[in-house]
Amino acid sequence: MEKTCPRCSRTFNCNHEDILHCQCSKVNLTFAASHYIKNEYHDCLCGGCLRDINDNHHPYAMYVHGFGSGAASSSSLVVAKRITGYEWLKPELPLNPDDALSLLNDYASTFRPEIIVGTSMGGMFACYVNAPWAIKAVINPAMEMDKSLRKKGYGKFDFYCEREDGVQSGVIDEALIRSYEKFRTSHQIIQGVTNICVMSSDDELLGHEVTKKNGASLAENGFTVVFGDKFGHRLNEQTAKLLLDTLRSNS
Ligand SMILES: [Zn+2]
Ligand SMILES: [Zn+2]
Repeated sequence: MEKTCPRCSRTFNCNHEDILHCQCSKVNLTFAASHYIKNEYHDCLCGGCLRDINDNHHPYAMYVHGFGSGAASSSSLVVAKRITGYEWLKPELPLNPDDALSLLNDYASTFRPEIIVGTSMGGMFACYVNAPWAIKAVINPAMEMDKSLRKKGYGKFDFYCEREDGVQSGVIDEALIRSYEKFRTSHQIIQGVTNICVMSSDDELLGHEVTKKNGASLAENGFTVVFGDKFGHRLNEQTAKLLLDTLRSNS
C-alpha cells in the first residue's frame, strides 16, 4: 500500500500484510529511536526517516551505580548494550547520600535524561531523583541502605572499579550509616513518566524477604515490578534482557 511518510511527506510503499517486506522491519531500531517514533508518530515512516532517526537521535540517559562502584562500573556497559541509542551519563557518586542526590539532581536538571537506570543503591537513588519526565528503571534497588551497610559492617572497603575521582577506598562508620538512615526517612519517591522495577527472586545480597518488601513498596509507589529468577543481586545479561523487555512493553 502506498503511504505518505508523516515526517518527510515522501510517498513510499508499506506492506502491512507482509511485515517482513515492509521497510519498517529492515531498519534495526535502537531503543531510543523506537521509543521516539512510538511516541511521536502513529503510522509507518519511510526507510530514510527511520535510518535518519536511528543514526541521529541520541538523547541522554543516566546510569546510577551501586555502593562501592563508580563511573567505570561494568554494569553500566551491560545496560548500555541493551538500552541502545543513548548518550549515557554516569555520574560518580560521593559517599554521603545527600551529596549523592544533589549531584544526581544537578545532572537531571542540566541534561534532562530521557531514562534513568539505577542498580542496587543506585536504584534507590533513581527513585528519589527529581525527574518526573524520565522513564525510571531500577534493578534490585537497595531501598534501606542503612540496614544493608549495618549488615556489611564497619570498616574500610575498596571500590569495585577504578574511580574517576581517584579515591579507591572508603570507610563505613556509624556516621555514614546514620546519614543513610536519615536520608531514607526524610525523602519521598518521585515517580517518573514510566516506572519499572526489575528484581531478582534470588538476591543473595539483599535476601528474599527484603526484595519482596521493596517490591511491594515500589508497587505502591506506581512502579511496575517484575521478578526474574536467572540472576542474583549483581546485574548480568539476563537482568538487562528482562529490563529491556519490560521497558519495551511498558513505555
Ligand atoms: Zn520520511
Ligand atoms: Zn509499515
